[in-house]
Amino acid sequence: MIQSASWLAIPSDSDFSVHNLPYGIFSREGGAPGVGVAIGEWIIDLTAAAQLGLLTEWEGAVSVFEQSVLNDFIALGRPAWQRLRAILQQLLMDEESPLRAVADRVLVRQTEARMHLPVRIGDYTDFYSSLEHATNVGKLFRSDNPLMPNWKHLPVAYHGRASSVVVSGTPVHRPQGQILPAGAEVPVFSPTKALDYELELGFIIGKDSALGRPVTAAEAEEYLFGCVLVNDWSARDIQRWEYQPLGPFLSKNFATSISPWVVTLDALAPFRTKGPLQEPAPLPYLQTSGAFNFDLDLQVAIQPAEQPESTLCRTNARYLYWNVRQQLAHHTITGCNMKVGDLIATGTISGPDEGSNGCLLELTQGGTRPVALEGGEQRTYLLDGDEVVMRGYASGNGYRIGFGEVRGMILPAAELF
Ligand code: MN
Repeated sequence: MIQSASWLAIPSDSDFSVHNLPYGIFSREGGAPGVGVAIGEWIIDLTAAAQLGLLTEWEGAVSVFEQSVLNDFIALGRPAWQRLRAILQQLLMDEESPLRAVADRVLVRQTEARMHLPVRIGDYTDFYSSLEHATNVGKLFRSDNPLMPNWKHLPVAYHGRASSVVVSGTPVHRPQGQILPAGAEVPVFSPTKALDYELELGFIIGKDSALGRPVTAAEAEEYLFGCVLVNDWSARDIQRWEYQPLGPFLSKNFATSISPWVVTLDALAPFRTKGPLQEPAPLPYLQTSGAFNFDLDLQVAIQPAEQPESTLCRTNARYLYWNVRQQLAHHTITGCNMKVGDLIATGTISGPDEGSNGCLLELTQGGTRPVALEGGEQRTYLLDGDEVVMRGYASGNGYRIGFGEVRGMILPAAELF
């Protein structure tokens, strides 16, 4: 897709090029939240744009822009999203654009806006779709049996907690709970000593599916609106004691952070790529052939208080073994329905190379090999005051399609009793 640059000055390393146009919920100082679109260092205030007559060619009800979540906009469906995208691109690229005359009323500096959770998330599911992550973690939890016998036959997942999904910038209290000390037979109660992040992507469901009717892998993308960065915070010591036989519960239900900007599948389309060869071939309902992974560079950094940032991971979403079509086909094969705004996360995205571990559990070999930080400190797991920053983007020819950041700082455990 060849497009001329915008009349707005957009640096080539901005995540928010005219080819991206992700949606989010923002507010101005003292103002009500509403729908915005990121462009360069700015946000297009869609309510203001509609009021000033810039969106008259769009057939959707502009009241959807005055909502505090994207759900009503998303529910209008793909033709409405695509039409708005085309209108906005024209407004940003046309030298004679009517937006230019009213730019000071429609464009809000991102530094002067507050971002909110973009979607009302009804249900949240977290997969476990990276072969490298599952193998590395499996070795640490069960050295004799790293990859469970089902892993290459189905995309493993657990049902997560939607109420504690928070937007980037929300601090996270260190969770506390039951931990089994090494060599002990009974647990102690303690704040977690093994607080970790997990680098993931999340897909936002864009269309309801019918209860009782599976979504096929071939039609799965009709049900997807867009994609966010996800940090699935995890307490490894709580997880190790609780996870058998029903999987993670308290070790992951205290917080999940997402990026404020939702990048549409339309924006990501040029960056489709084939995933790894699947051997053995999955059952027919999970078979896909085509470029259904995404070539997205992903990074994790941590920044202790008053210290420089240290990049701990560089990986790519292309490494994921199970793609989102397979995840959705598997999730709904029983007839389980999807709702607009549901969040489907990939699981930790690790890669095959040194430095591509998407969580500290892997990077520090279960907390036994500390990593050195730029400021001279070391870490096995996160300390209070540490801030975790995740970034992700696709690189086009002279432009980027990115997510911005998902950030979260660790606060001390809540006082009890
Ligand atoms: Mn996870």
